[in-house]
Amino acid sequence: MKELEICWNITARCNQNCKYCHRFLNLQDLSFDENLQILNNLYDSGINSITWTGGEALLLSGIDELLKISYEKGIKNKIITNGKLLTPERINKIYKYLDSITLSIDSTSDDINESLGRGRYHYTEIKEILDYIKEKEYEVKIRINSVVCKNNLSNFNDLIDFLNNYNIYSWRIFKFMPLREKAVINKESFDISMREYSKVVENIKKESKIKNIDTRIEEDMEKKYVLILANGDIVITNNGKDEKVGNALTDYMENYI
Ligand code: SF4
Repeated sequence: MKELEICWNITARCNQNCKYCHRFLNLQDLSFDENLQILNNLYDSGINSITWTGGEALLLSGIDELLKISYEKGIKNKIITNGKLLTPERINKIYKYLDSITLSIDSTSDDINESLGRGRYHYTEIKEILDYIKEKEYEVKIRINSVVCKNNLSNFNDLIDFLNNYNIYSWRIFKFMPLREKAVINKESFDISMREYSKVVENIKKESKIKNIDTRIEEDMEKKYVLILANGDIVITNNGKDEKVGNALTDYMENYI
């Protein structure tokens, strides 16, 4: 069956403060019933794969129930999380509804994680999650997202070595992108050249045991992703500009996918 996928930024709130973040800010969460209505609309539109993200998706009240309902409809659920709320109890509760968990980590260095706004102990938090899932042998794919920027450019070897200890399904390497919001404000501090980015990717492909290495640069964000925002707006990025094309509370997705 063809995968019809949507990326749902279900909350704009986050419990980290990444200085390169380009999420949409200042949007109110919808109620559980409104989000359920969107989920039903997505299902009726033939969507069979949802990437749940934010902000931090696990902050949303009722998200565990939405994941369960989505799973019971036969939708493939992928979640992207910074891991801060992924306690062993939460993992035990939701892993069965998930096809994959994507953890965001850009460095093993506490200093770098602090400078990026992820929080000083981000590496330790991610390590605890990976160790726990490894120990439990849970059948959920683990994916990694990393952003390459000025601060962590020379520090990827440690991250490669760290991730080589785990059974990671895929690693997506984003070039820093000044797309919107904080990422635009902080562009000067984080921007890197295509050459610098390619060098890091080349090294990762050479040294990492992870088979699926994927890259993302600005052009990839154009029209490739149909996003649903926390308020239900359906957004497509075109020539660097976000275009609202509908609202998932009332619209079916056939016209956009
Ligand atoms: S990059 Fe992700 S974890 Fe960091 S502030 Fe933005 S939404 Fe939160």
